[in-house]
Amino acid sequence: MTAQIIDGKQVAAQMRAELKDSVARLKGQGITPGLAVILVGDDPASRSYVTAKEKACEEIGMHSDDNRLPSETTQAKLLGLIDQFNNDPKIHGILVQLPLPAHIDEDAVLLAIDPNKDVDGFHPVNVGRMVVGQEAFLPCTPHGVIQLLLRSGVKLSGAEVVIVGRSNIVGKPLANMLIQKSATGNATVTVCHTRTKNIAEHTRRADIVIAAAGRPNTITAEMVKDGAVVIDVGVNRVEDATKKKGYRLVGDVDFEAVSRKASLITPVPGGVGPMTITMLLYNTVLSAEKSLSRCN
Ligand code: NAP
Repeated sequence: MTAQIIDGKQVAAQMRAELKDSVARLKGQGITPGLAVILVGDDPASRSYVTAKEKACEEIGMHSDDNRLPSETTQAKLLGLIDQFNNDPKIHGILVQLPLPAHIDEDAVLLAIDPNKDVDGFHPVNVGRMVVGQEAFLPCTPHGVIQLLLRSGVKLSGAEVVIVGRSNIVGKPLANMLIQKSATGNATVTVCHTRTKNIAEHTRRADIVIAAAGRPNTITAEMVKDGAVVIDVGVNRVEDATKKKGYRLVGDVDFEAVSRKASLITPVPGGVGPMTITMLLYNTVLSAEKSLSRCN
């Protein structure tokens, strides 16, 4: 079997076109969805993520408020800025790019964001709402994975899903979303991690394998059953002297070998990555729609 590629760029483009229409509708009702983006410090990777997020906002007609602060910014100053955006009616989403410099308490910052503007879905109020199945801002990467699966025609209800990785931003929320009694859930989920005794024993019975470990080759061909759907969340740099930058990006899955057994597979790059920013735009538009209904 040769797997069909799930093209994340194409699915993301389709969703962004839908969001552009929603933004135009909201503008017609007098609201421009606005995202405040806050970056503290000058980490090159964070800078490029933030630039990509602002560009994506512009492309669909949203307003983005760009705040690049020096690395020595105090926690008090950052909390003050968040408070200002919490109270700004033009801002519907607040994104603080992580990681923050070591002198700033990340938990205190995430807690300071109004849960109604927490478009990253990391505030404990949104996490709690998600777990109990209430309406919430869903964290972007796991929500992007679910959208990729659904929009590729993959049936989640009753599916055996094995996730490798249990972080708070990918593995745990994804497992929670997939077990919800809803159209975007109803799967039977196993979560593996570094203490799991025999990961292959779990992945081999999975209809859907989701790799989110952050280690190249975590999923090899012998760990996957014929016809499985394989989603690769991992993004890893590996040295490559043939590349100008001296490295290339790979996922957690041995793509070449696994794509000979799987029925559907995501590439890296071009799979889950483009969906993450798309779901951030989705949450900001949703927040603007909610603010409109609160006004009416
Ligand atoms: P993380 O916080 O480092 O968590 C990694 C998880 O994988 C941990 O739960 C760890 O287990 C588990 N793990 C690591 N090596 C393993 C192994 N050999 N076998 C089994 N489990 C293993 O990472 P993360 O933030 O969740 O990110 C995971 C990957 O996704 C990274 O490559 C990251 O760059 C990528 N990512 C991509 C996007 C995107 O938009 N494409 C977004 C977010 C993250 P323990 O808990 O036992 O340590």
